[in-house]
Amino acid sequence: MYNEYMSNYIESKYLHLLSAQLDQFKRKNDNLYNFRCPYCMDSQTNLNKARGYVFVTENNYVFKCHNCGQGASINNLIKHVNPQLHKEYTMERFKDGGRKTSNTIVKKTKTEFHFKKKAKYLKTPLGKLKKISQLPEGHSAKQYVVGRGIPSKYHYKLFYAPKFYEFVNQCERGKIPDIKKDEPRIIIPFIDKQDNLIGFQGRAIGESKLKYVTIMLDQQAPKIFGLDTVDLRKPVYVVEGPIDSMFIDNAIAMAGADVSGLSNFAAEFVFVYDNEPRSREIVKRIEKTIDQKHSIALFPSGTKEKDINDMFLSGKCVDEIQRIISSNTFKGLSAKAKLSEWRKI
Ligand SMILES: [Zn+2]
Repeated sequence: MYNEYMSNYIESKYLHLLSAQLDQFKRKNDNLYNFRCPYCMDSQTNLNKARGYVFVTENNYVFKCHNCGQGASINNLIKHVNPQLHKEYTMERFKDGGRKTSNTIVKKTKTEFHFKKKAKYLKTPLGKLKKISQLPEGHSAKQYVVGRGIPSKYHYKLFYAPKFYEFVNQCERGKIPDIKKDEPRIIIPFIDKQDNLIGFQGRAIGESKLKYVTIMLDQQAPKIFGLDTVDLRKPVYVVEGPIDSMFIDNAIAMAGADVSGLSNFAAEFVFVYDNEPRSREIVKRIEKTIDQKHSIALFPSGTKEKDINDMFLSGKCVDEIQRIISSNTFKGLSAKAKLSEWRKI
């Protein structure tokens, strides 16, 4: 005979079987378990951070991550972490006759969960796209993101638009008049502190004449990626590309050379330009930044990589990159002196 007690018994049994694969798994009490989130992998820099929780609501075990916001039924959690164990779980559930009723409850709980927590920017056409974290391993867009070494905690913040121009027009009618030659792109959303989608970049997946296309939906909004997660009370690193910003703590990225949007924010900025001492354009921008009394980071001589993502891909870990940047940050006259050294390399 099926009853609620039995339902929880099976769920709890399988949660414990699964726990071997859940990092930092801790049972807080009968109704609360905590471990590193298997969807976003939690913090890459702090391996002790564990923000995934399983708790009981309406007699069902439910998963929720306080880092990436992912919610899941226990069924989907098991399926995600261990498909083999999931088969056994389904079998046992099937034998347990009352499963159908319980399944409906799980589904219902899950929907409420998503509904309550659904971020504002997902109520735009963006919400209809698949997140990179939802794509299968072999998918070209996922392969691109994984190939660039982008930490998995960002995979749920990047999206895949199979028809980029069509997506742009859904966001803003008639923005691209001719969409005959449509193409797939990875969407890097720009979200502001109030959770609004203010714009996005579309990154070509294969070879393309246009690597990035930037679309601003709110023309008044600053062209900045990462506003939603940045802590303006701490020093803020300003890098050139959104992808670079994913490799250092508390970073934002400028879409293009226009940095005027930053004046809206009272924060301490440290500018990290690409490592291209021979580019007159970059040197000019650094000079201007120094004159505006901002700090700048200049990569030490001998650094071959041209940007942060390159440094990561050549084997430097996130902590090392962070350390190089903070020990090579200058301001005012010393920044000017370092710049003239740097450009001679
Ligand atoms: Zn997570």
